[in-house]
Amino acid sequence: MDDAIRAAAFKWLKEKTEIFGDVLDYRILREGFIYQGNRISFLGPQGIWKPQAMELPISITSIPDGPYADSFTKDGFLNYKYMGTNPNHPVNTRLREMWKRQIPLVYLYRVVEGKYLAVWPIFIINENQENLSFLVAKDEMEYIQERKENFVADETEDNSRRSYLTVSVKQRVHQRSFREKILRAYRSQCALCRLKHVELLDAAHIIPDSKEGGEPIVSNGLSLCKIHHAAFDKHILGITPDYTIKIREDILQEIDGPMLKYGLQSLENNKIILPNRTIDHPDRDKLDQRYREFLDAS
Ligand SMILES: [Zn+2]
Repeated sequence: MDDAIRAAAFKWLKEKTEIFGDVLDYRILREGFIYQGNRISFLGPQGIWKPQAMELPISITSIPDGPYADSFTKDGFLNYKYMGTNPNHPVNTRLREMWKRQIPLVYLYRVVEGKYLAVWPIFIINENQENLSFLVAKDEMEYIQERKENFVADETEDNSRRSYLTVSVKQRVHQRSFREKILRAYRSQCALCRLKHVELLDAAHIIPDSKEGGEPIVSNGLSLCKIHHAAFDKHILGITPDYTIKIREDILQEIDGPMLKYGLQSLENNKIILPNRTIDHPDRDKLDQRYREFLDAS
């Protein structure tokens, strides 16, 4: 029964993430779905979560700054802390069994309060008893199936593929966390035009993450709609360190349709919308650095 529920769970997650993206609300994950009269939820009071109808867990959850300091290793894998400190606690024993049998799980990472990045399938690939943790990797179902059918084990190849896939999970964790924090700080609207459709909003960096000072923190970000994000990146508009919007001179002079007029020209000298908390306001030094680039490009 566990295998069938697990397969149904992956299918359900695929459908949900196709609609909502890979960051899902707590409510949706908690509610889960009904399988033959049993509620299969993805989240519970424990980080290692097993719905009642199942014998083995369905998901493991990480909470940043939570009591369990889960972290990515330098080989690109995830260290997931035991439940408690006893390696033979029944919950840890179940995860160990999943490692031996290579049974897939869902990994949930809380990007902000009430929102979780969902990643699957993930596998337990080792454990570190001294460190009281399991080693977790992202993989793809096809490879696992192939492996089972052919009984061919190429450990080096497995490891490098899993490491690569898990590193990309880490990147997603950072990107999605940044996005959700920015959207929350700006109350899900464009800081320039107030557009409130999250599907059309981006978390823009003030200093790009490829440059020094480009940290993924709220004060280095702006919530911008797609058009204003692109205009900001291409120096069609700039934002002064005192939060005033400036439109490039030649764009101000141009004559064209309503998008140019209302979408860009009318923003000239407006103030941007700021987050409620002062600590989340855009960093003035970073804006200054960026604004100089805008002036140079003008
Ligand atoms: Zn906008």
